[in-house]
Amino acid sequence: MTDISTNITDIKASIAAMCKHTGTGNTAPNLIAVSKRQPQEKIDLALKAGQRVFGENKVQEAFEHWGENRKHYDDLELHLIGSLQTNKAKDAVQLFDCIQTLDRIKLARTLAKEIEKQNKPIQLFIQVNTGDEPQKGGCLLSGLETLINESKDLGLNIVGLMCIPPVEDDPSLHFALLKKLAKRYDLPKLSMGMSNDYALAASMGATDIRVGTAIFGAREN
Ligand SMILES: *Cc1c(COP(=O)(O)O)cnc(C)c1O
Repeated sequence: MTDISTNITDIKASIAAMCKHTGTGNTAPNLIAVSKRQPQEKIDLALKAGQRVFGENKVQEAFEHWGENRKHYDDLELHLIGSLQTNKAKDAVQLFDCIQTLDRIKLARTLAKEIEKQNKPIQLFIQVNTGDEPQKGGCLLSGLETLINESKDLGLNIVGLMCIPPVEDDPSLHFALLKKLAKRYDLPKLSMGMSNDYALAASMGATDIRVGTAIFGAREN
């Protein structure tokens, strides 16, 4: 059985050490425990260990994991890190504190309406397709400036940029690009790094790091 509590402690320590070592000036990035396709008992162990920030990539599954827990933990912070269809925007705004996968103007408009209707200020990251991969979610580099400007005009609280590097690439190129873009558009947060490269991401200025298997072990199916 994986010791989830130890994993969380070790990962946080290595992230903090890496930030200190490289002088990013950011000693405590937000560690998002990615609980998608993990059994409820493992999620309960993470909660017991004091973890309160979690990421999910499907709205429906997130309700199964967190709908009930929401009532028992008032300090939970839930991040949507998977692509969002406009017809699920209402449910996503209801459940999540942060949506990291805004990648198109149509979704920005729908989210703006829902956020106003539910009067629930949520934080948003724009997901950037830094590898310009056609099959992948995320805004293409060529459309980023327009999306940022239109989202801000809609009153959305855009806090930063998020990326998932192509598996075959050196992630550092993508992390560097994301950082450069965030600086250019004056956005404070950077969501980057996963189980295989969280230390690297921390060393390059990540403020939000999304770690699944290194905390919980292999996912089901
Ligand atoms: C699943 C997922 C993660 C976590 O991946 P691990 O390799 O298990 O750490 C991080 N980010 C996104 C967007 C994901 O979908």
